[in-house]
Amino acid sequence: MYNTLTGQIEPLEPADGKALRMYACGPTVYDYGHIGNFRTFLQVDILRRALKLTGTALRHVMNITDVDDKIIRNAAEAGVPIGDYTKKYVEAFFEDLEWLRIERPELMVHATKHIPQRVTLVEKLAAAGAAYKTEDGSWYFRLRSFPEYGKLSKKDLSGMEDGARVDVDEYEKDSARDFALWKAAKPGETSWDTAIGRGRPGWHIECSAMAMEYLGESFDLHAGGEDLMFPHHENEIAQSESVTHKTFARHWMHVRFLLVDGRKMSKSEGNFYTLRDLLLRGYKASAIRLALVSVPYGHQLNFTCGGLTEATKAIERLRTFKERVTAGNFAAGENSAIQEAAKKARADYLEALANDLNTADARAPIFELVRAANTAMDQGQFFSGDRDAVLPVLADFDAVFDVLEDRDAEPTRRALEWAKEAGRMGEVAPELLAARSLSDEQIEALVAERTAAKKARNFARADAIRNELMEKGVILEDSKDGVKWKRK
Ligand SMILES: [Zn+2]
Repeated sequence: MYNTLTGQIEPLEPADGKALRMYACGPTVYDYGHIGNFRTFLQVDILRRALKLTGTALRHVMNITDVDDKIIRNAAEAGVPIGDYTKKYVEAFFEDLEWLRIERPELMVHATKHIPQRVTLVEKLAAAGAAYKTEDGSWYFRLRSFPEYGKLSKKDLSGMEDGARVDVDEYEKDSARDFALWKAAKPGETSWDTAIGRGRPGWHIECSAMAMEYLGESFDLHAGGEDLMFPHHENEIAQSESVTHKTFARHWMHVRFLLVDGRKMSKSEGNFYTLRDLLLRGYKASAIRLALVSVPYGHQLNFTCGGLTEATKAIERLRTFKERVTAGNFAAGENSAIQEAAKKARADYLEALANDLNTADARAPIFELVRAANTAMDQGQFFSGDRDAVLPVLADFDAVFDVLEDRDAEPTRRALEWAKEAGRMGEVAPELLAARSLSDEQIEALVAERTAAKKARNFARADAIRNELMEKGVILEDSKDGVKWKRK
């Protein structure tokens, strides 16, 4: 894995020889997560799963930022306590994770439940001469006390003025200044009464305090989006190492931004998407998952509708193949070419994952195997021993990519329920609405009527029913076990 801290590709291994201790910055729950956020969480999920597949145990911590500048501001505007304000976004985040099949980390920890740990850390920083209090009762980190500041983002901050301060949680690189650890209470805003005064924590101290609480002073890997490298991660290092004098995280993984249709995603550009937006447009959760991980984490992904369609087709191809192999009646024996192809596909797949988590290269050998096996089946050269060789390779692929099983109906159904409650039915794609206009029972009845019509050789009626269902987004598949149907 590429390590941002050292600028080199390095082995990623648990220092204790047991479990990889990793921390990944989680969401700030002031809104629904957008696909840029989820690209990061998905790439971390791919890492998790690849490590587990190759036998590495994990202790993975993710924080939920449920207090920060934006949350406090929005909650105050809405006139509700911050917990009431964030509740629906926390719930939505957990739902989104489930829909995208992102595994839950071993520990998910809330910022508001760790105020004392942050206060203690500020006290330690003050004792070490790295924090000072201002007249209004806020606490700041003294950048000059940590000469290594900038070592992660490789920024030269030598021109920085000592004592110049910034009190917002997010800021640009030219405002690298002493940053807030603790902010004095302001009237009407949420605050806590603590040993260092009445106020609320700055954002950056959250990850230092929680990472060290659950992973120790020094741990294996810290991950996050590239936008967090500076100042957030740089500040985390400064806050932690000023107290411990140990390397905070040995390895840093940064997931690059995505573009949407070749441009930076933004609400003003009209190319800003949450997971829910895409589900309402009729894209399937599995396709969104695959599209978001189709380019390796260290490269920019250009997210497009074309990419989603490609992912949809790729998944369809894999699912159809798996069904063909599973349900097929094959003679006993083996085709040595398929045996070889399966072995090679597995080796190439694992090698690509081990090579800085190259998801694009990892996909390719699986599709090559599908092609070879399909051809062999077409030619009657595929045997039961080949099935036993091919299915485990698919299982290994799915242990990481997790798109083979069709679980797409549920996220779409729940997103539609959500749209109804949120008053956003106007954004739902017409095909999707049509597909939901028939209940399962109505579809079953039409399918039965079509079967009867065919039996009675009334093919016109049978075709009419098929077309009607198609228009309403229901696809029929005639198989030897009867007619199967599914929603588009
Ligand atoms: Zn963080």
